[in-house]
Amino acid sequence: MNFLEERIVKDGVVKEGNVLKVDSFLNHQMDIGLLDQMGAEFKRRFADKPINKILTIEASGIGIACVAAQHFHVPVVFAKKSQSINLDGEMYVAEVESFTHKCINHVIVAQKFLGPEDHVLIIDDFLANGCALQGLIQIVQSAGAVVEGIGIAIEKGFQSGGRMIRNLGFQLESLAIVDGMNAETGEIQFREQKKGPAKAEPKEAADEESICRSSTLD
Ligand code: 5GP
Repeated sequence: MNFLEERIVKDGVVKEGNVLKVDSFLNHQMDIGLLDQMGAEFKRRFADKPINKILTIEASGIGIACVAAQHFHVPVVFAKKSQSINLDGEMYVAEVESFTHKCINHVIVAQKFLGPEDHVLIIDDFLANGCALQGLIQIVQSAGAVVEGIGIAIEKGFQSGGRMIRNLGFQLESLAIVDGMNAETGEIQFREQKKGPAKAEPKEAADEESICRSSTLD
């Protein structure tokens, strides 16, 4: 088990409805030493990529992205989940269905913070069905920027997002992949990962339908 898997086993709580609570160390109270280790691991996995910006989504991606940014020495932009009066000028907007809140959000990034010159690492805390990621990818693509990679803290491998994103050809690196969990016993099974960047799955399996209702708005 790697450092994050060990921490999930120690302090994570499995809830009904396929929800893993990690709010004592990752997305409510945050263990900054752990986030720093995660940042170093993202840097190792994306060492060969010309990343000049990190993109995440509010709220729980922000802390992870900011600590990771210390390892990449690049700015962080976070997508806002609804229209804000502080955002002036033109914006990129995508629609994203929330896994935890079961609602549709607009995610918004000001055009002045993302453009064709950018090589972006997308970072988030969880990957489930991939709806949040699809929205962020659409925003990067609307900006004419390049998605250099995607770094996730915890992927729920029994949901379809990871397979769908890898099949699209992106380098997706999840520090822990949960392949199963049991709310009654609290047991969590992790996928074994080789040390080194994960490879995309074969293209033949790429035609999987996304279950996210997600689209870019102009
Ligand atoms: P997706 O868009 O991939 O379906 O879900 C990703 C988002 O849903 C994450 O940004 C995260 O906030 C939330 N999420 C999904 N599954 C879980 C979970 O098991 N636990 C927690 N705490 N958040 C989750």
